[in-house]
Amino acid sequence: MKSVKHWINGALADGDDRTAELFNPATGEVSGHVALASAADVDAAVAAAAAAFPAWRDASLMKRSQVLFRFRELMYAHRDKLAALISSEHGKVHSDALGEVSRGLEVVEFACGIPHLLKGGFSEGVSTRVDSYSIRQPLGVVAGITPFNFPAMVPMWMYPIAMACGNTFVLKPSEKDPSASLLMARLWQEAGLPDGVFNVVQGDKAAVDRLLEHPDVRGVSFVGSTPIARHVYETGTAHGKRVQALGGAKNHMLVLPDADLDLVADSAVSAGFGSAGERCMAISVVLAVDPIGDELVQKIVERVGRLVIGPGDDPKAQMGPLVTGIHRDKVASYLDLGVEEGAKLVVDGRETAVLGGGKAAETPGFWLGPTVLDHVPPGSRTHTDEIFGPVLSIVRVGSYEEGLELINGGEYGNGTAIFTNDGGAARRFQNEVEVGMIGVNVPIPVPMAFYSFGGWKASLFGDTHVHGTEGVHFYTRGKVVTSRWLDPSHGGVNLGFPTNG
Ligand code: NAD
Repeated sequence: MKSVKHWINGALADGDDRTAELFNPATGEVSGHVALASAADVDAAVAAAAAAFPAWRDASLMKRSQVLFRFRELMYAHRDKLAALISSEHGKVHSDALGEVSRGLEVVEFACGIPHLLKGGFSEGVSTRVDSYSIRQPLGVVAGITPFNFPAMVPMWMYPIAMACGNTFVLKPSEKDPSASLLMARLWQEAGLPDGVFNVVQGDKAAVDRLLEHPDVRGVSFVGSTPIARHVYETGTAHGKRVQALGGAKNHMLVLPDADLDLVADSAVSAGFGSAGERCMAISVVLAVDPIGDELVQKIVERVGRLVIGPGDDPKAQMGPLVTGIHRDKVASYLDLGVEEGAKLVVDGRETAVLGGGKAAETPGFWLGPTVLDHVPPGSRTHTDEIFGPVLSIVRVGSYEEGLELINGGEYGNGTAIFTNDGGAARRFQNEVEVGMIGVNVPIPVPMAFYSFGGWKASLFGDTHVHGTEGVHFYTRGKVVTSRWLDPSHGGVNLGFPTNG
């Protein structure tokens, strides 16, 4: 039985007595416990981060960047171990866990360039013998609060840039899969990061709420579901903090009749069922524009029938279990709801065979196979709710306009994709769709580290997306300096408003 603790000031910390159970999703068995921080535990982590801030802020850009380079090498060397940890608590297959580590490492690599990213501007002679220049400085202690579905990648969207900018960091990972955070903390220490610059508090609402209220926390990055994102944004900003809070999603793939249907079917199955659909950029709705619906569904069903479901550490498995029993039951409830709402259940994931087990519904562990619902009525709950599992809904639409209206009428605006061979239609879509991240014949358009990640509407509260140059902006404050070195020509006292002469 493992016992997952906090990491404060460069060492493991026990904290309060409260704990939560950890599970192996592939078997359903309890695998250990994770500490749940009290307000006092959070205060200890913030105090460590605050104490480490002055020296870290003053460390040269090259020194900070060298620590990041070393961390990158250590993470790369430990990527298999990290992926195995993720898989054992989250359930995703090993190759998928490796994928999230490598996408996170791209942000570390981006942040290694911090000396370039923090360059300011300089204007010589804005007035007679007066120069102006801009600089950006760190905020102080910043916090990251992250979801279960990417226990390594989502924290890596945040902390490399935050710390490269000179901030110190307190991470509050998901209590469902907390172990990756401690391995990353140890690797930071091995990379030469001073103690207190990176801290981890394990926990639930109590830890989150204390971080949101703590006067020494200057900025909060959050990724999770929309109701909690809204709470984090409203509470954090009410306490004077800078907040970026990324929420949930319901991503639609619009398929025009001229699209390559084999590419579409491969893409819909990959993007719908990768990581058991527990991705904020998963495709959960296919909008099939008439008349291609029947042919496309047939191609999707053929591919789904070939998917191999099994434990994350079995190299033959392409899709693992869901994260918890409660979540699996919630996702599975949409199979009956969908039928009640008028959809046709064309693939029932409860019947899918699990490697080494029986049918998903009868195998111990949190299993549900890939499920396809066709003719899902637009506006039904199956169409609009974020199900966050291996359930792909097909909605039939008569035209591009009808599809676009369904996307733009939705609550979320995280990701979307159009599949077509018509460049004009694709261009029109990217212009008209109210979504933050758009794929053209690409089903999961996750921006690279040097662009910024974020959605619109209920998928993001705040105005700054994560990583890329917006990330650097979020974790720094600007100053503009106007400077004159006196020379014999200075004009004496002048009470007039400064103008440029
Ligand atoms: P969640 O909202 O339940 O939890 C996210 C974090 O908030 C966790 O650290 C959790 O401990 C904390 N939390 C939970 N309940 C809280 C409460 N009442 N008060 C304060 N804090 C609380 O999300 P999850 O289930 O871990 O992750 C899945 C969700 O995250 C999905 O909705 C998914 O779309 C979303 N997500 C979004 C993005 C994005 O980029 N927009 C990326 C990944 C995941």
